[in-house]
Amino acid sequence: MTMPEDHIARRVEINGIVQGVGFRPFVYQLASQYNIKGNAANTSSGVSIHIQGTKKNVESYCRDLSEKSPPLARITDISFYNERLNEYQDFKILSSKKPSVMNTLISSDTSVCDDCLHELFDPHDRRFKYPFINCTNCGPRYTIIDDIPYDRQKTSMKHFAMCRACQTEYEDPANRRFHAQPNACKACGPHVSLFDNTGKMISTSNAIEKTATLLKQGHIVAIKGLGGFHLASDSENDRAVVALRKRKHREEKPFAIMSYDVDRIREYAHIEPEEETLLTSHQRPIVLLRKKLPNVISQAVAPRNRYFGTMLPYTPLHYLLLSHDFTALVLTSGNLSEEPIAIDNEEAFNRLSHIADYFLTHNRDIYLRSDDSIVKRTARATRLIRRSRGYIPVPVPLYKTVPPILACGAEIKNTICLTKKNQAFLSQHIGDLENLASYDFYRLTIRHMKKILDINPQIIAFDLHPDYLSTRYAQEQQDIKKIEVQHHHAHIVSAMTENMLDDQVIGLAFDGTGYGTDGTIWGGEVLVAEFGTFSRVAHFSYVPMPGGAAAVKEPWRMAISYLYEGFGDGLWDMDLPLLREVDHGKIKIIVEMMNKKINAPLTSSLGRLFDGVAAIIGIRNKNVFEGQAAMELEMLADKNINAVYDYDWLNEDRHYIPTEPIIRGIVKDIKQGISPAVISGKFHQTLIHLFVDLCDVIRKETGLNRVVLSGGVFQNAILLNGLIMALEQKHFQVFTQALVPTNDGGICLGQAMVAAAVAS
Ligand code: ZN
Ligand code: ZN
Ligand code: FE
Repeated sequence: MTMPEDHIARRVEINGIVQGVGFRPFVYQLASQYNIKGNAANTSSGVSIHIQGTKKNVESYCRDLSEKSPPLARITDISFYNERLNEYQDFKILSSKKPSVMNTLISSDTSVCDDCLHELFDPHDRRFKYPFINCTNCGPRYTIIDDIPYDRQKTSMKHFAMCRACQTEYEDPANRRFHAQPNACKACGPHVSLFDNTGKMISTSNAIEKTATLLKQGHIVAIKGLGGFHLASDSENDRAVVALRKRKHREEKPFAIMSYDVDRIREYAHIEPEEETLLTSHQRPIVLLRKKLPNVISQAVAPRNRYFGTMLPYTPLHYLLLSHDFTALVLTSGNLSEEPIAIDNEEAFNRLSHIADYFLTHNRDIYLRSDDSIVKRTARATRLIRRSRGYIPVPVPLYKTVPPILACGAEIKNTICLTKKNQAFLSQHIGDLENLASYDFYRLTIRHMKKILDINPQIIAFDLHPDYLSTRYAQEQQDIKKIEVQHHHAHIVSAMTENMLDDQVIGLAFDGTGYGTDGTIWGGEVLVAEFGTFSRVAHFSYVPMPGGAAAVKEPWRMAISYLYEGFGDGLWDMDLPLLREVDHGKIKIIVEMMNKKINAPLTSSLGRLFDGVAAIIGIRNKNVFEGQAAMELEMLADKNINAVYDYDWLNEDRHYIPTEPIIRGIVKDIKQGISPAVISGKFHQTLIHLFVDLCDVIRKETGLNRVVLSGGVFQNAILLNGLIMALEQKHFQVFTQALVPTNDGGICLGQAMVAAAVAS
């Protein structure tokens, strides 16, 4: 056979997330579109394609490969090689070569695609109302994978043999379900069942419809989802939502809700165009949206909060359930507060039967739990508050290649990080490492991720805090290089990493708690930092935290500490609401603890200052959840305030910022009857002015012009927005966190990069 003269041949090598995401059917269809002959095969690191055709067609084909690739594919690397012409008859998908090194990336769990959704509600489709419909463009991935390489036998779908119809789709390169590992139908796949909370099966022909009826009657139902169980109730039913709070021991922390579509969300929340894009993205995170007032949603869903955490359905099961005309369903993680979310059917019955009245479960196992992700649009960017389902295990790119490192994270909102070459893989949200159940989940996640990502770490990075379970884990490991990382250094380096900065920067690290190199508790820190080292150039002056951990839970203790710092024994004559509310006997004990330095560790934390101010102005004396007082102080603030309180700093070996002038100003305002909203607004403005002035001084001292903001306090939108604007006005370059959380959920990334620098 002779080739026409204008024919050429090429080989294309593609790396990235290209397996199990419909890439080969795409390659196949593209070949028939451009009359291309050749073949395609999966390799250890991606896909290899041989193509041959007219020059024009080959070029169009190569262009479309990256420009029109399927929604879940993520090409990290594509190279083209000219080849000699070959005698191809057609275009073939070759069976997989046996992989030698596993370099392929695993896709994240993905919301049901439009094509599948269409079939789901099509009465003529064989998968009409089948709650596990999926294809190569959608469905479960990370949560059902047990090992690599990714094929059905290594997933929880191994228990289901495909029927003839499904098998035919699976084997047809032109089909949307070609090698879709979780492919299934009513005849061969998983199914749902409904139980009451004694474990008795409810006989019904339609478990999902029955569940909708039970929810409408005000019952609480545990529903098995993609990454774990949710607890559901009708969000319009006050009684049901309040009952759910009581039974779950979650008194105040906002519940997430889910609505069928964007129009229904618009009934109770404002949606900006970027927020709509987030809501409808295939990751389907919980998006924090400003409440519309009034609205029909129960007050108990998100008390004293200006936002609703809202998401759209992401599994076919959710779609079927929500199609029964709810404005929104509460869908909160199926656990007792602070414990990991339940994933196993039996485990769910054991742990949730005193919370849920009914259980809607299914028989497709979840291998690895994954909570819903949370995002918020603030200061012109989409910011991940919790990076979990839908976003993992997609890696964060690094500016350079590093050795394989395991970074253990901190304590609250824990995530871990594993590095491979120039990529960092962060785990799903593991949660607060404060109990054995979380610690088990923590170790399981590390084991699992090492296996499926094929990473054998040589270095382990962990927090300086000697008592964290993550530190204990690190200390127990053997034959591995151990590197301790200071908490706030890790925060700043995390932000530097996602912004690809590798020079020295001025870092503002503001949070609640982090162990300092001097054994005190830091949290209001200005660092001059680079990857391998940092110096502490300014911070709030130390005040005692009477009662240690108790002072975190009870902001009134911090209030007394700041007042005593500012006024000494003058405290007793002050006429403040707080001093009328709290028993003076208790206050005396606190003051004595501080004077005698008993269980009163020192702190420079800005998170604690927020708590203290909230208590002084009478917002909240006790935190029911982490950061609650500070959050309510922000929600309350009058944003049109320009006034500030007096502030100053002392220049010694570094800059010390006393809290006294700020506290005095606040007390004076309270006495003059100024409203808490104005005081809060002024407090926020004070911090903004203070730190901009301070950065100006540090710029003069160091010549540095880049300012990096990180730490949990930057979830405060007023402070974040205000600082970015004010710093930019002074011609600073400002860098913040968006890809990974600014709270401790992003700290493992910084730990890994500090360790990489220290080890090199
Ligand atoms: Zn699909
Ligand atoms: Zn089937
Ligand atoms: Fe922190």
